Amino acid sequence: MNVSSGQKKAIREAAVDVVRRLHEAGHVAYFAGGCVRDRLLGQEPEDYDIATEALPDVVADMFRGTRRVGESFGVMLVRSHGHVIEVATFRSEGAYSDHRHPDEVVFSNEHEDAARRDFTINGLFEDPIAEQIIDHVGGQTDLEAGTIRAIGEADERFEEDHLRILRAVRFAARFDFDIEAETARAMTSRAGNLKGVSAERIGQEFRRMATKGRWGPAMRLISNLGLEEALLEHAGRGGDWLRCDHLDQCDPPPATHRFEPAMAAWLLDRAEGVVDEADCESIGDRLVFSNQERARLGATILVHERVNAEWEGASVATCKRLASSAVFETCIELIRAVDADRASFIEARVAVLAETGLAPVPLVAGGDLLAAGLVAGPEMGEILDAVYDAQLEGRLPDRETAIEMAIELASPGHADG
Ligand code: ATP
Ligand code: MG
Repeated sequence: MNVSSGQKKAIREAAVDVVRRLHEAGHVAYFAGGCVRDRLLGQEPEDYDIATEALPDVVADMFRGTRRVGESFGVMLVRSHGHVIEVATFRSEGAYSDHRHPDEVVFSNEHEDAARRDFTINGLFEDPIAEQIIDHVGGQTDLEAGTIRAIGEADERFEEDHLRILRAVRFAARFDFDIEAETARAMTSRAGNLKGVSAERIGQEFRRMATKGRWGPAMRLISNLGLEEALLEHAGRGGDWLRCDHLDQCDPPPATHRFEPAMAAWLLDRAEGVVDEADCESIGDRLVFSNQERARLGATILVHERVNAEWEGASVATCKRLASSAVFETCIELIRAVDADRASFIEARVAVLAETGLAPVPLVAGGDLLAAGLVAGPEMGEILDAVYDAQLEGRLPDRETAIEMAIELASPGHADG
């Protein structure tokens, strides 16, 4: 999602308006959490969470068309100027017997609401009307120093919610922050807890790390903090973490489809450049990839491997087929990570090959061959491939010659066909 700065401004105005109306009705209300943090870091937020002392029913009565998100949690979705803003009543949380969600939520005051949040930098409030930051957890100091610190007792906080271990990694990598020593120690000592977190949730956090933030540092932190085994079980192979060339090159990665390139870079680094289908499958299972993600990762690994192994000695047709693959550009970036000269060399050759068309429309199709009296079947596919190779290599001036070649290949005398 790419939100323009004009849209971000409009979203902010819509959110400020909700706070203003709550204030006018006599309720304390603030921006809370990520949106406060991001703005202090100079990044205009795309979504706003509001925390207020007003009870959910009061919020529902004040705004038209309000919806509840999980009623017991007291979070309301309020429409304002066409935007949807989350408004949550200040609360404290009970025990976490499932280590993911609090058993109960008790509406309370702003101090407790700040204290239930995960890290100090995520525990800030902002009063956008008075233009004030309200900091009950020491978040501003940590934000300035670049520190990820659990609010309260780190051990307790990671024990309550195991997923916070991965959230800490994600924020540290995204903002290039250090994880405070006690927080880091608690993360490492509780690494085993991650085994109990659902694969979907872990996959989701990985996806966020890859698409929003800095992937290389995130994966290095996972390794350095000793989280890898619990997270991946036996997926992929052990890695040589001194060599993270691929990972670094992928920061900042291509904007749109970042996940599969990031995964490919990571697998290559973990396995010292040699990754096979089974590695892709096991990581796909562990992190619950979609079929499309699996297909793209598999193609990236395969094309990368072939370009690496075959490019220099490959025929024109093979090079053109590789270069017209949808994942070729990603593969070049992965190669550039370890050998920039080689990447430039390959690109120069592609530029020359492109002059005669990397993927021209085939001169003949199956229908042409059937019309010429050939029989449908696997052999016809092979003939079409061979004819297309000849076309890519510039050996066929026109369609007639192409059909002649196909008939020749299909003739009984053509023994090796
Ligand atoms: P992002 O930019 O990734 O959305 P965020 O800080 O907004 O970052 P959210 O997951 O949207 O993260 O959560 C919003 C806020 O809710 C957080 O800033 C934090 O205060 C609180 N929060 C979210 N998840 C947790 C959690 N697992 N434990 C404690 N507090 C949490
Ligand atoms: Mg958020």
